[in-house]
Amino acid sequence: MFSKQPLHISWHWQLKSAPEQIWPLLTDTNRLFKDLNQPSIQQAHISQSVEPGFTQLSYNGINRYEVWEEEPYEWEYPFRFGLTRHYQSGPYKNLKIQADLYPNENGARLKIDLWAKPRLGFLSMLSTFKLKTLIKRRLKKTIRQYDELAFNEDKPYESASPKSLVRGGEKRLQQILEQLHNSEVNARILDKLVNFIQRADNLDLERIHPYELAEHWNVSREQILKVFIHASKADLLNFSWDLHCPICRSIQESVKTLNQIHEPIYCDECEQEFNVNFNKTIQLSFTPHPLIRKIDTKKFCVRGPQTKPHVVIQQYLEPGENRYLKTELSPGTYLLRTTESKGTAKVHVRKNGNETVHIELRSSGLQGEEVHISQDPNLSIQNSSSEPQLVTLEWETWNDLNLSAAEVTSSQLFRDLFGNQVLKKGEKISVDNITLMFTDLFDSTGMYNEEGDDKAVGQVINHFEILETAIARENGAIVKTIGDSVMAVFCNPDQALRAYLRAQKMLSQDKQFNNKLHLKAGIHHGSCVAVNLNNRIDYFGSTVNIASRFVDYASENEAILTQKTFNESSLNEVLGEFGNNNTVEDISTHLKGFQKESFLIKRIQVESSLLRLAI
Ligand SMILES: [Zn+2]
Repeated sequence: MFSKQPLHISWHWQLKSAPEQIWPLLTDTNRLFKDLNQPSIQQAHISQSVEPGFTQLSYNGINRYEVWEEEPYEWEYPFRFGLTRHYQSGPYKNLKIQADLYPNENGARLKIDLWAKPRLGFLSMLSTFKLKTLIKRRLKKTIRQYDELAFNEDKPYESASPKSLVRGGEKRLQQILEQLHNSEVNARILDKLVNFIQRADNLDLERIHPYELAEHWNVSREQILKVFIHASKADLLNFSWDLHCPICRSIQESVKTLNQIHEPIYCDECEQEFNVNFNKTIQLSFTPHPLIRKIDTKKFCVRGPQTKPHVVIQQYLEPGENRYLKTELSPGTYLLRTTESKGTAKVHVRKNGNETVHIELRSSGLQGEEVHISQDPNLSIQNSSSEPQLVTLEWETWNDLNLSAAEVTSSQLFRDLFGNQVLKKGEKISVDNITLMFTDLFDSTGMYNEEGDDKAVGQVINHFEILETAIARENGAIVKTIGDSVMAVFCNPDQALRAYLRAQKMLSQDKQFNNKLHLKAGIHHGSCVAVNLNNRIDYFGSTVNIASRFVDYASENEAILTQKTFNESSLNEVLGEFGNNNTVEDISTHLKGFQKESFLIKRIQVESSLLRLAI
């Protein structure tokens, strides 16, 4: 009586926006399903054996209980994405949805296809009726909204109405704002942040990334970070450290303080343990303070393309299966991964790369092969192994809009306001790409003898203040002082050299020092290990040792660093900012404790004598 024929529905819409413009919104399936009024979901356990990339889920709805297994989402940026669900109960046995974007002169045409296999006659007919009317209407409205946002490059919160705060939240907010306006935060950014907290939805507020907002608001990263750090101290925001798996990049844990990090951490998507790193895998994100606005963290979809925005292609291939893929990629280096292989292959996307590329996945796995492809290649992937494979093509570099632990913990402001944010005793976390600088006073013994202890000590303490100002201005932080020497940390050598040159200039221009204080510095960039020493974050390793040897080697008004560091940074420009009266000399030398190695170093001599005579 009721048809159990397979169902196929197809909808089309013309969009104003181009595929790459609407892609981030359309493929944010967590938001899409929420906007389509779907109930929230939770993980379910149907069977013990789950294929890699598959998830078992169920609805949280009161009147609706459906359990299903979801195949991995498949996508080809920026043209196609889709998913298949296999239901345990309910009107359909399975459901497949696919969205295709076809660019045209007016923007793009969006086609959404839906295939379903009915299970129960009457119920299936009812569901199909609902799909064809209610869901279609909601989908049309949502797509129109997304198209408008994408076309105008707006974020969803910008067209949303203000949400209600928690009881007493409005009053607390006013008090916090008064307090923050009295500190040195940028008032315009603070207003934008408050507007965001009031209008954005739960999905946007669960994890706020300041640098993403900095880009959208067109404000500097330094300024926004300052606002976020002060706002956290004032209880407008809370923050947490998100621990990302280095392979799939998913967040596997979130902790409130650094001392809650216990390595190794287990990734349940990759099914293996990993260690974290200050640069990439520990990232700071923010959320409104619960006494201002409560955030509901319900999920509507867990594995959509926007959960992995660095992945441009994801495909699930059965043994023997071959796929022709359509994509359009920006030039750069990408990694090809499969669930069945420990290794990866490198895919270089270049303007004049190969137009037609066929990738064959064998049982031997990927072993660092390299291919060069064009930006819109004819790409085909074949699974010649005997196992199903989940294949991904992803950006090799990590999103630079993330705020890394390395960056936050090398901020003086953060260290000053959140001194309790230290690692657990005994925990060692690696840090790559960090700059350490040691400064010292040249011939301070002579100065003590000449000036007397009392006066000399006063001058040394004042010189610390000057250094602190110069270091904080470059977003660096003082790790510790050792005698007259300062150990400081920065994200890059440019900041370190700029801080040194500025401090040097301030010292030579300040009459109280009477030209008696001559600062020298050793700068080195590389990797080290962060630990908790005396309840602060300290750094160890050869990068630290080399920087410390460099300062010993340096003479009056001199900064020493390697030629490699100099050439890989924009230090020439930094020197230019401070005038032309510096001399730079290349030498090769041995250092104490590193007898076997010779170092090619740069000696930067700051000629401030002319300046001194002029005062
Ligand atoms: Zn993982």
